Amino acid sequence: MDFESYIRDVEDFPKPGVTFKDITPLLNNPKALNRACESLLSMLQGLPIDKVVGVDSRGFIFAPMLASKLGAGFVPVRKKGKLPHKTIGEAYSLEYGEDVLEIHMDAISEGEKVLIHDDVLATGGTAEAVCKLVEQLGGEVVQCNFLIELSFLNGSEKLNGYPIKSLLKY
Ligand code: 5GP
Repeated sequence: MDFESYIRDVEDFPKPGVTFKDITPLLNNPKALNRACESLLSMLQGLPIDKVVGVDSRGFIFAPMLASKLGAGFVPVRKKGKLPHKTIGEAYSLEYGEDVLEIHMDAISEGEKVLIHDDVLATGGTAEAVCKLVEQLGGEVVQCNFLIELSFLNGSEKLNGYPIKSLLKY
């Protein structure tokens, strides 16, 4: 399927000079939504997965669907202060300053195999912080998968050593 035709470029969002890849046309189309989910699953090539970690907030769209199809649990990683129970946190860089991502301390057990999913890999700072959180809890990151990889931002270099797969590359 030509997934690219369902991704909309939005100029100057969220700020001037940025071209934002908007995935909502893909979500809006029943066939594209279904095929995207199936393709993300096929990228796993039968890897065993215990938990699927979705990243706040557009990672929450596909991660639970993938988890359900895989017979795995879903784990949300959220921005600081949003999760109700005991958490651990990891700082990551934004264009200006930094932010913190958090995960519940009991969300992943020692030795569990973990798939990390987010909609877009840009500079890689977000996914790198999520990998660190998973590993602090004793989980093993078996793949980071994305709908879209913005290759020109070299995010894969930050995720050096982790298997990365994406549906679309720009
Ligand atoms: P990174 O930390 O890799 O620079 O940024 C990745 C995070 O920013 C992801 O959580 C992703 O949702 C968001 N992001 C950055 N650029 C875009 C974009 O063009 N489109 C969408 N949908 N999300 C983006």
